[in-house]
Amino acid sequence: MTLHTQTPLVESRPMSLSSGRSIWLKLDALQPPGSFKIRGIGLACETHRERGARRFVSSSGGNAGLAVAYAGRVLAIPVTVVVPETTSERAKELLLRENAEIIVHGVSWQEANDFALSLLGASDAFLHPFDDPLLWQGHATIVDEVFRSGLKPDAIVLSVGGGGLLSGVAEGLRRNGWGDLPILAVETEGAASFHAAIEAGHPVELAGITSIATSLGAKRVCERAVYWSQEHPILSVVVSDQSALSACEAFLADHRVLVEPACGASLSLAYEKAPELDPFGTILIVACGGATATIDQIRQWSARYA
Ligand SMILES: *Cc1c(COP(=O)(O)O)cnc(C)c1O
Repeated sequence: MTLHTQTPLVESRPMSLSSGRSIWLKLDALQPPGSFKIRGIGLACETHRERGARRFVSSSGGNAGLAVAYAGRVLAIPVTVVVPETTSERAKELLLRENAEIIVHGVSWQEANDFALSLLGASDAFLHPFDDPLLWQGHATIVDEVFRSGLKPDAIVLSVGGGGLLSGVAEGLRRNGWGDLPILAVETEGAASFHAAIEAGHPVELAGITSIATSLGAKRVCERAVYWSQEHPILSVVVSDQSALSACEAFLADHRVLVEPACGASLSLAYEKAPELDPFGTILIVACGGATATIDQIRQWSARYA
């Protein structure tokens, strides 16, 4: 038994029609804690438990923290999540439902993270949201499942925050002998740290995050993501917040699943018939999910563009 579930792989009729090609979805929005993150974090938590960890510590008020809280509850290991004062009530509510201990500390993520690190004792395990080989190994199971299904897409579309999902999928492609299968790595304007990194040839720190897709809001991607950009065919694509939001609405109507704009960014390529899809007949989109947005929040953001 793993902490993540094997998710459905389905062809989207509406998205195939709107993009004029075959669009397949890996529905990781249906993971119990709401996003793909449980794949890698679940594996990391199980590994730390085997090594004797008695507590899991995270500094993420987003989907990574939720995955840690979920894993801790299922494995019966206490979880402490340190979040900054800016964390929404909804995020805290979701963490409390998983029985996590929440410590509110500092005005920014940096301060919360520093405090979380200062709490670590010998039997505590700290779970990073994207920069950890155990995470990539776990995220790679997305590709294992697609490989076993018998479907071989011509390209894979996924969203990039800190680059953990990208690094995991690239690893999964390599370990299944699909090292030639291109990845379209999607970010939103104002959170395009992978785009900046591949232009520079190394991770660079963005001055700030201005996108509403907060789950993509890592100011700097991990080194591993840049390594893969040199070892694997990866095309960086940057879309607007507005495109990501419209895709969330369309996806809810088409597939009855609410996802965050972080996921909408990837879905928007099919809905907007992005030219980057032109070379490919069959596309797999990782519907990475995300539990932190409500439909009211998505519509409030969308209203800014109306
Ligand atoms: C974390 C997350 C991402 C980005 O993943 P990284 O591993 O940080 O690149 C994308 N979408 C959702 C919903 C997420 O939770």
